[in-house]
Amino acid sequence: MKANINWKEIGFGYYKTDCHIRYVWRDGKWGPGQLHQDEFMPMHIAATALHYGQAVFEGLKAYETKDGRSVLFRAVENAKRMIRSAEKTLMQPVPVDLFMEAVHKTVRANIRFLPPHGYGASMYIRPILIGTGPQIGVKPADEYVFMVLVMPVGPYFKTGFKPVKLIVEEEVDRAAPCGVGDVKVAGNYAAGMRASFAAKAKGYTEVLYLDAKKKKYIDESGPANFFAITKDDRYVTPESPSILPSITNMSLVQLAKDMKLKPKRRRISVEEIFDFKEAGCCGTAAVITPVGSITWRDRKVDYCPDGNPGKRCVELYERLTAIQRGDIKDPYGWVTEIPAE
Ligand SMILES: *Cc1c(COP(=O)(O)O)cnc(C)c1O
Repeated sequence: MKANINWKEIGFGYYKTDCHIRYVWRDGKWGPGQLHQDEFMPMHIAATALHYGQAVFEGLKAYETKDGRSVLFRAVENAKRMIRSAEKTLMQPVPVDLFMEAVHKTVRANIRFLPPHGYGASMYIRPILIGTGPQIGVKPADEYVFMVLVMPVGPYFKTGFKPVKLIVEEEVDRAAPCGVGDVKVAGNYAAGMRASFAAKAKGYTEVLYLDAKKKKYIDESGPANFFAITKDDRYVTPESPSILPSITNMSLVQLAKDMKLKPKRRRISVEEIFDFKEAGCCGTAAVITPVGSITWRDRKVDYCPDGNPGKRCVELYERLTAIQRGDIKDPYGWVTEIPAE
């Protein structure tokens, strides 16, 4: 039986469910997964996650299909990305099979929180890997914990699929770093918080970050990749070594190809914002967020003068979400069923 939740009203935030799973890496191996109900965990005061940011994470979603199956979207890609994040920060990587087992077990143990089909809600899955062994010198930990939390979520923005306002980073925080590269490291977000909150205080939704070296090319927008539709109807998205490779963006590139939008990853100079027909941000949490306007050096480009998202953003959004929810056939093998016990 489903949990007693008003699925229509649910937002995007932490929500207590029945349990999460934990695995400990100690003495050279991963131990068995254990389900915990307690939301707190004791930690060594010198854990490397606390002192040196040995902490990486992932974000993915589970959906209930119309015929009642529980499915995941491209979870193996998240598993592989977490391995790359762990390698970059000298942490003990979680093998793909262990990652998948953890996700399957945690979703299954909390299946009453998987939102029913048709409410626009889903189950957000948050795997995290942290260094828990003590170090005071800058060294990798000798002990790690891998956890998976799950929670039901609704739309990322309460306003729904509405165009948002972006501001180019130099207008809010000149020293804003976008991140430490192409991995999903917790510290990326701490480094971007000041810029992001400065933008919000000025009435913008998020910051559009530029490349760290020349401050000339578009990187991404906070926790989301950036894409645009050119006036000749092509999908373009920035190529840069410091962008997190978004699985949503990867999927949109494939859909754009099938929609004859000739997708291209290339460097995008910030001046090009004035030449686009549409723009959007993409990521697991919000799927696609249409960009209504971008402000840069006292100039502003308005992509949605009538307040509605552009045609291509709508088409891409509808096609991707229909595949994720199992409403249309998935020709790519992206959607996988969560096996029974
Ligand atoms: C997670 C994340 C994204 C979105 O990636 P998805 O795989 O689409 O969820 C984009 N940028 C950053 C910095 C991220 O951490």
